[in-house]
Amino acid sequence: MTDHRWRNPYKILPAVRGVVQGAYVAFFLLAGYEFHLFYTRIVAGGAAAGYRSPAVESFLPISALMSLKYFLLTGNYDGIHPAGLTILIAALVSAFLARKVLCSWVCPVGGISRALEWAGEKTIRKRRAKETLMPVWADRALTAIKYLLLAFFLYAVVLMMDATAIVKFQRGTYNYAADAKMLLFFTEMTGVTAITLAVLALLSIVVKNFWCRYLCPYGALLGLVSWISPQRVVRDGSTCIDCKACTRVCPVEIRVHEKPSVWTPECTGCMSCVAACPVEDCLTVTRRGKAGWSPYLIPLVGLGAIFLFWGVARVTGHWHTDVPAARLAEAYRQAKGLIHP
Ligand code: SF4
Ligand code: SF4
Repeated sequence: MTDHRWRNPYKILPAVRGVVQGAYVAFFLLAGYEFHLFYTRIVAGGAAAGYRSPAVESFLPISALMSLKYFLLTGNYDGIHPAGLTILIAALVSAFLARKVLCSWVCPVGGISRALEWAGEKTIRKRRAKETLMPVWADRALTAIKYLLLAFFLYAVVLMMDATAIVKFQRGTYNYAADAKMLLFFTEMTGVTAITLAVLALLSIVVKNFWCRYLCPYGALLGLVSWISPQRVVRDGSTCIDCKACTRVCPVEIRVHEKPSVWTPECTGCMSCVAACPVEDCLTVTRRGKAGWSPYLIPLVGLGAIFLFWGVARVTGHWHTDVPAARLAEAYRQAKGLIHP
């Protein structure tokens, strides 16, 4: 007979994840603020004083995708936004090894989405009768949006651009100023942008992780890679008591309690379901055909892979841009008037 008084040793994982996500949100806010000061000084004609964190390049995934293709075609590593490329490669490797840890532990948008999810949990979703809000058909239809966006970017970049076209884009002023344009998107927000972000925030209170689940093509790409990851959550149907706690806590509303194995690109590997299960070893992390991993290993391996790439990139000179400050200044001064080539 199963002892339901088992003390789940993974219960602490969601809280640890919250702390890590909070730290990353704070880190990116600080990086954004520093970059704002850097941009303001350089555009005003002053010397490039202050610090531009290479982490801002994580917000340039299209440029990183082009750089990845160029790297694979030619062996040349992008020197304009090298951190963006490093982060993309690290995210892909991490997704294969340990699912979408970048989405569930690192990404600041994921962190903010989780805070909004918490707000929804405490208010409008407080007395929900069902484990999941979204009907399966609606969830599938909305999920398709991010894959369509991803298909468009893969078509436009991976299929349609050859090495010559990529170099032309990379050496254009638009690419040099892409980080400044991203900054201006937030600091000089148009009314339409503000309303769109407000609507997305409201939707994320009602529907868990609305942006990440339905609209983020970066997450869609990582999801496809994580789909072939050998690591996944499996459920032992013989000990499951059908309490549905796993499904209730899942941030992407996967119906874990119905699945023998969570084999879907939507699983972020957050380990909330494992942490919530009241039955010993009913939910475990298993490598197909092999002994299981401790659920602690998912974030440890995923984050470890990301830190490893960061460290290697720093040591080998593939983290900081090699664009001279004068060229950056010239591009940043034109940023407001630039349109996508
Ligand atoms: S299935 Fe489990 S690990 Fe996957 S996203 Fe849902 S709660 Fe997280
Ligand atoms: S949390 Fe999910 S897997 Fe664990 S006993 Fe309840 S329904 Fe079964």
